[in-house]
Amino acid sequence: MNLGRLVRNYKKSPGVITGTVIILVLLVILVPNNWASNNRLDAPVPISKDTEPAQTTNTVPFMPKMANETLKAELGNAAWKLFHTILARYPDTPSPDQKQHLADYIRTFALVYPCGDCARHFAGLLEKYPPQLSSRKTAALWGCHIHNQVNTRLSKPQYDCSTILEDYDCGCAQDEEDELKEKETSDHLASIKVDSTEEMVGG
Ligand SMILES: Cc1cc2nc3c(=O)[nH]c(=O)nc-3n(C[C@H](O)[C@H](O)[C@H](O)COP(=O)(O)OP(=O)(O)OC[C@H]3O[C@@H](n4cnc5c(N)ncnc54)[C@H](O)[C@@H]3O)c2cc1C
Repeated sequence: MNLGRLVRNYKKSPGVITGTVIILVLLVILVPNNWASNNRLDAPVPISKDTEPAQTTNTVPFMPKMANETLKAELGNAAWKLFHTILARYPDTPSPDQKQHLADYIRTFALVYPCGDCARHFAGLLEKYPPQLSSRKTAALWGCHIHNQVNTRLSKPQYDCSTILEDYDCGCAQDEEDELKEKETSDHLASIKVDSTEEMVGG
């Protein structure tokens, strides 16, 4: 369309042309801004139905291989420390919910462990030796056993599991004693009857 025709058209229907120009200007301003904000790392996207994680049955670890041996060992040290400490703090007599939470945690731990190869082997070990979560002691011993399986694979010495709870002493005994004392104190306080002022005055 040449300029003369455009001017003639504008004279005929100025509203349509002005509207089109406004829409074009808005598109030029808004589209890149939106695109940039979606790609900014510091702009969390609100969770919508489309971005919610789907229920999945995939149970294969998906992290990449970890080639750096130093990182792998540092990660292993830290991860084992967390793993054994969780098991050593697990309740003596867990509720069904608590058992389920720990079972879910261990399964997910194996899925997302950042050394993909380690995770895939570990997932295999979990199938062979499913978590035993009936009590703190059972869970801690199971954890020690499964770590020993990894030690065997890596030609590392076996760990003596007989002192596992002391070795990963979580301070639970003290925490539980304190909790009991607190409960006894609050029960005791609740059981004390304070004489009403009337009784005191009257008596
Ligand atoms: C789930 C998982 C899977 C792994 N898979 C692999 C793998 O496939 N290939 C690989 O190269 N690395 C793997 N690693 C790392 C590997 O297990 C070691 O962490 C790493 O080689 C460093 O070993 P380390 O000798 O410092 O002691 P670690 O095995 O890291 O142990 C740390 C400390 O825990 C104590 N310990 C040792 N054995 C036990 C036990 N049985 N129970 C309780 N405490 C114990 C000892 O005090 C030891 O110093 C894995 C780690 C994890 C958490």
